[in-house]
This record gives sequence, structure tokens and C-alpha cells, in this order.
Amino acid sequence: MDRVNNLKKITKKKQQQFMMWFSMFSAVFFITVLMMMDGDLVKASVPQTHQEWLKPMFHVEHQQQKIRVEKVKSGDVAAMVLRRLGFPAAEANQIVVAARPVYSLRKIYAGKTITRTDQGDVITLLYDVSAEQQLRLTSSSQQAWVASLEDKMLSTRTLVVEGTIQDSLFLDAAKAGLEDKLTLKLVDIFAWDIDFARDLRKGDSFKVLFEETFDTQGKRVRYNILAAEFQNRGYSYKAVRYQNQAGSVEYYNQEGKNLRKTYLKSPVKYSRISSRFSNARKHPVLGYTRAHRGVDYAAKSGTPIRAIGDGKIAFKGWKGGYGRFIEIRHNNGIHSTAYAHMRRYASGMRKGRFVRQGQVIGYVGMSGLATGPHLHFEFRSRGRAVNPLKVKHKPANPVAKQELTAFRVHAKNLLNIMQQQSQAQTWG
Ligand SMILES: [Zn+2]
Repeated sequence: MDRVNNLKKITKKKQQQFMMWFSMFSAVFFITVLMMMDGDLVKASVPQTHQEWLKPMFHVEHQQQKIRVEKVKSGDVAAMVLRRLGFPAAEANQIVVAARPVYSLRKIYAGKTITRTDQGDVITLLYDVSAEQQLRLTSSSQQAWVASLEDKMLSTRTLVVEGTIQDSLFLDAAKAGLEDKLTLKLVDIFAWDIDFARDLRKGDSFKVLFEETFDTQGKRVRYNILAAEFQNRGYSYKAVRYQNQAGSVEYYNQEGKNLRKTYLKSPVKYSRISSRFSNARKHPVLGYTRAHRGVDYAAKSGTPIRAIGDGKIAFKGWKGGYGRFIEIRHNNGIHSTAYAHMRRYASGMRKGRFVRQGQVIGYVGMSGLATGPHLHFEFRSRGRAVNPLKVKHKPANPVAKQELTAFRVHAKNLLNIMQQQSQAQTWG
């Protein structure tokens, strides 16, 4: 009996020892695991400033946030992405069903992301629907999923950038803090009045008021030039962005005159004229003398060809020696333009389609009868071929009379903001 009791005592002691070791070991193990996991956790942001002063006196337990982001791949359906985010199949389906009344997750597409955030027992899913809206799905303590479509908190800021031409527009604009995309926009706005390749002089200057819009993650979703001023050889050109009541956005000067002309000067940028309009010349391929009813622009094969004005495609297809050919009718058919020898058409081109000025309709090639890649371009007025280089370029429509008062107030405001911000930024 005593022996048995003794044995029991020893066993109990061993058990206690074991329990002690086990709990110590598991505590160390648990802490190690926590530390390892820590690398994968994105913590709720806590201000880090002056952390070195504030030696932690005691440890405060934060409810940690765990964030996982999963990209939608091509061929994915929403349930597959949700599975990759750690939801079992049944729950993934519940989520899709819960979202349906506000947004169909069938519409998700490749390249977008779904973000899962776990905080305590609350799980949140976010999906970017558009630049302005996001889908939010929430479930707490394993309760049903609740879906809502919410406006992102977009924030907007305006900035003024100004500079003086020392070397080249792009260099000086970049130095002033204007990114190339905005410099290109600036060039497009004034291209009708200023020939940036030839007219720029040292000492010319520019001022640009632009607006940037950001989503909640700080990603820029939009940017636009609101107003600009260009001093070229002692003359000041001003531009103001304005959306007219018909809904189209244009740049006008302060008086409401459109800065854009009805037709572009040329359908190809970065080209040289290799043959001019004439009523009689020797054909380079056919050998005999024949009138040349257009202008040839020599350019690298594949250079984009732009519609020189708004209009409707009247013909698209192979046209004998012209090869791949597009004809556009402008201004109710009073004018038409033709583009020949294309290597290929831009996608979506077809007869009857409306194209905008500057829209790419095809690419330079040498289809049909041509000795090298070039664009053969014709301009017709009431059916008669005229010299495209001698067409008078009229300004596009000005601000409508009934909108002029509103426009003037708008223009004055923007130009004032540009002036004031530029002074505020340069006093230092
Ligand atoms: Zn030609």
C-alpha cells in the first residue's frame, strides 16, 4: 500500500515537472511563431515620430490588422479569388450572393484587386469598382456578409508650375516640376498658335495650373490642365479649360474663342513632305506624267495617322493603287479627306463610324503602288481636290453666346487662381 502511494507521489511529481516544462516550451514556441508571423502582418499605422524618446514603459496591446491583397487573374471568377484569400468554397459563394444586390462580382476583371482586412473577428473585403466607387463587404463574428457600394474619398489639389525656356521645352518644363505627360498636353493646347519646333525662343515662359485627383490610397486617378499661359516672343497666349453645355471639353482663350482649329495642320506628326500637290508630275512608279492631287508625308512605317477633323468614315478598304484607304467626310460632306497606302487600320474603323479630330485611324505603310512608306493625303472641298497645305484653318466653334457670361466668370476665376498660387509659391 505504502509502495503504491509512494509510486503515485513520484508520478505526480514527474507530471508536475512535465507540465512546467511543457508550458514553458509552448510559451517560447508561441512567442516565436508570433514573431515569425509578425513579418507578414501589416500593422495599423501608429505614428513613428520620436519613437526613440518614448521607451515603452509597458506594452499596450493593439488589435492588429491583417491585410491580404489578391490580384484578379485572367480567367478568374470572383469565387476563385476569394478562395485564394482563404475563404472556403461555401463562404466564397455566400460572399458573391451577398454582393449581388449592390454589385455583381461577375463583372470583376483581370488586373484589379480584392483586399481582405482582418481586425479582431471583423473581416472586410474591398473591391475597386471604378475610380470613384468601391464595393465593401463586411462580416463580424461569422455573421452574414453585408455589402455596400460607397464613394471613395477622392481628394483634389491644384498646383501651379512655371518656368522659362533655357534649353528645350521638355527639359525646362521637367526642371520646373512638370511631368512629360502634362508638357505634352500643354503642347497640344497651344499647338495651333505656337509652332513648338520652330517658334520657341530663350526667355519664353509658361505657367500651368493643373488639378490632380487622388483616391483614398493616394493613387492619382485623374489630372488635367485647368488653365495655362505661354509667353512666346513677347506675346501672351492664354488657355482655359471649359466644359460647354453640350458636354464637350475644350480650351478657349479669355474671350471664349476656341484655341483648336477645325482641321489639324497635318495628319502625321514627325514626318517630312516628300511630294507636294501639283496638277501635273511624273508618277514615280507608273513612269508617265500624272497630276498629284494630294500631299505625300514620308514617315516611318507604323507611324500613327490621325483624322484631321471630326467626321464620319465614308469609305474604308482596298482601293487599287491607293492600297489600304480611308475617306472621311467632314462638315456635312462639304469637305472630305482621304488617307492612302496604310500598313493597317486602327481597330474599330468601319464605314459610317464617327471619328474625332486627332483620333488615330491607321498606320503609315506602303500598300498599293508606293516606292516607300508614306501617307498620301488628299483634301476635297465640295468634291474638288484642293492643296491641303493651302487650306485656310478656321477656329473650331467658340463658346456659345448664351454661355459667354458664365464662361467669362469661370475663366477669370481660374486665371486668378493661377496668378495667386504662383505668387504664393514663389515668395520664398
Ligand atoms: Zn501621293
